[in-house]
Amino acid sequence: MALDDSLIEELGIGPVWVRRGVASVAPVEDERPPAESAALVSEAPAPVGMRQAPQPAAPPSALQPESDVPPVDAYDDLPWTDDAPAHAEAAVVEAPSDVHTLDWDALAERVANCERCRLCERRTNTVFGVGDREADWMLIGEAPGENEDKQGEPFVGQAGKLLDNMLRALTLSRQSNVYIANVIKCRPPGNRNPELDEVARCEPYLQRQVELVKPKVIVAMGRFAAQSLLKNEASIASMRGRVHEYRGVPVIVTYHPAYLLRSLQDKAKAWADLCLARNTYREALAALGVEQGAEKGGI
Ligand code: SF4
Repeated sequence: MALDDSLIEELGIGPVWVRRGVASVAPVEDERPPAESAALVSEAPAPVGMRQAPQPAAPPSALQPESDVPPVDAYDDLPWTDDAPAHAEAAVVEAPSDVHTLDWDALAERVANCERCRLCERRTNTVFGVGDREADWMLIGEAPGENEDKQGEPFVGQAGKLLDNMLRALTLSRQSNVYIANVIKCRPPGNRNPELDEVARCEPYLQRQVELVKPKVIVAMGRFAAQSLLKNEASIASMRGRVHEYRGVPVIVTYHPAYLLRSLQDKAKAWADLCLARNTYREALAALGVEQGAEKGGI
């Protein structure tokens, strides 16, 4: 089903042209060369054998006004930074032997009372996850920010609104056909990146969530989440545009919504990532013999 161009434009996720020097905040997450961020946004040709997302049609309005960029102070909830430690060598931590046997209620209770790492000391709430526990789509972020810690739900605030709008463009919603979780369930103080041992201690919970949801596709949002899932220290630019795998489930890497709030020129790339996720989802359904139109989530 073709997407309505007006909806894409309203969400700000169509390709945009950015005047040189117009962005008020320099992108910090992507590691692309400087020239790429200055002019027309376009993807580099894919290496041979690499699958890339189809590009949506350009919206009629090409210039993104500078006034659309909210002040950085508006974002009180940025659970990511760019100075993350590498995740290639995850700390070796013994996992609780029974986590893989827990059902949803027992797993949620285990997380709510967890004291397996130091992050339990300053949390207000654990942030377990939200959405359809039988969803075909699973979105995975990094760790709770300030607002998420207060509310006990992932992706709230401005970043959450942007994420919800992007999902809506794919007829997806956390209320009905998506499950959303973080790699880490407790807020790191000061929104610092989690330490390797914290990731290792918390990962069994995410692994069990993936086992229970049984998603057809996973979208990893932000470099930290992608590195944690894929166990590498690659740049997000190098991980995007390909289909990875986590415990047998295809994984698409895209930007964290909080990053997109600060880097409007990369929204078009995020949209391309979601298109790749949609195509990957369709392929997974086709492999299972599910007819088009009978899918559970996403267009
Ligand atoms: S971050 Fe994870 S491992 Fe650490 S206390 Fe919270 S739930 Fe437990």
